[in-house]
Amino acid sequence: MKVAVIGAGAAGLVSARELMREGHDVCVFEQSSQVGGTWVHDTGVEDDPLGLQSARPIHSSMYDSLRTNLPRDLMAFMDYPFDSAGGGNDHWERYPHHTCVLEYLRSFSMDFNIQPQIEFNQTVTHLEPEHDGLWRIKTSPGADRYFDAVSVCNGHYSQPYVPEIRGASHFKGSFLHSHNYRNPTAFAGLSVAILGAASSGADISREVATVAKQVAWCGEQFHSPAEQTNRGLLKYSIPSGFNQQGELVFKDAPPVSVDRFIFCTGYRYEFPFLDSAVVSVADNQVIPLHMDIVHPSYPTLGFIGLPYLVIPFPLFEVQARWFARLLIGSHQLPTEMEMMDALEMRRRELTQTNTKFSHYHRLGEGQFSYINNLASQCGSDTLPDWYELLAKEAQQARLKDPEHFRSAVLNYSGTTIVE
Ligand code: FAD
Repeated sequence: MKVAVIGAGAAGLVSARELMREGHDVCVFEQSSQVGGTWVHDTGVEDDPLGLQSARPIHSSMYDSLRTNLPRDLMAFMDYPFDSAGGGNDHWERYPHHTCVLEYLRSFSMDFNIQPQIEFNQTVTHLEPEHDGLWRIKTSPGADRYFDAVSVCNGHYSQPYVPEIRGASHFKGSFLHSHNYRNPTAFAGLSVAILGAASSGADISREVATVAKQVAWCGEQFHSPAEQTNRGLLKYSIPSGFNQQGELVFKDAPPVSVDRFIFCTGYRYEFPFLDSAVVSVADNQVIPLHMDIVHPSYPTLGFIGLPYLVIPFPLFEVQARWFARLLIGSHQLPTEMEMMDALEMRRRELTQTNTKFSHYHRLGEGQFSYINNLASQCGSDTLPDWYELLAKEAQQARLKDPEHFRSAVLNYSGTTIVE
């Protein structure tokens, strides 16, 4: 089949490789001039600090100091270790700097000969199903092109999610989203509030606290009043808003005055090239997708990389293999009605278990059975034993000591050499 891949980040590269392995004729469209996606660090920032209306949008959300939050043996694609036998270096730290991940992905694109299939500086602006079963793709610059199938790999860590905060207009300081955070220099001597306690919130609050006068780090799982951690870093619950004086108000602590407010509140799914009649995004759900990959009515349209709270690269790899093999008919889908019914059932389960709809693509613990299920369906190897053991050990280390987990000794390891 003639298959288009949109994006040359980790998902797009591994999707291209799996499609090529199954004998498909692959063309990758990449809007930038290089592979790597979010790992291509950009020192510049957008003109809108919240990243909502920028004249020159920036794709990557990497900050200067970022080191991975997963050990590199866990991040590696299954047959391409993150060491000198694959795309890495045996001496790299186990939680390497972002530049190492980019080097790994570049090597991957060369070792599997994907580079010649990529058309760089080509932004996909329109993707539409035609009556004859083909997909019409329009790129900028470029003319219409037609494909039998499409693998959508445009990433979902570029479009900031900025929740509304009551009384925000009273705030006299300035707002920023972590998408446009690069380093702490601009926060020296200031009082800063940071909203969000996932990976970026944890890293950025600690880094900013090294130079700021004070950091109020606000997270759903924290309790005020101000649980002191270190270096002027104080934990608070989620603020209920700003008061008339522009101070942050908490249900369980006195108001706090800050000069800067950083949203570390994550990102939104966006497919600006795709009509919402085909796939819609509402409340952080991309629907309707069977196995979070294919559209029940258009099974030649696949999405690689949507689930979150996962170990991304190996998950992308299995999703990509499943989709590439589906296109050659090596495994079959349930009927369209069965897939739609299953999706309806999944939504009902969310309601019954009181799970937020916005957590629809959040896998967490479920990622291991999800991967193994895909692997079994498409005749691929299921996960090796060390994988889940190392994943859980690394997660426990991170929860136990969010500040120093990158130097913790881990007992389990994968096939990648980590010295
Ligand atoms: P991306 O890397 O975003 O790639 C998408 C590609 O599509 C880009 O090259 C983009 O230019 C291109 N594109 C987008 N739209 C179009 C279009 N219309 N036309 C053509 N091309 C287009 N993961 C880990 O495993 N470990 C970590 O430690 C880790 N840390 C992270 C830290 C931060 C701050 C962030 C933001 C993410 C982190 N991640 C981490 C997650 C990371 O995003 C994934 O691991 C993975 O790199 C995502 O790959 P992707 O290919 O899905 O998306």
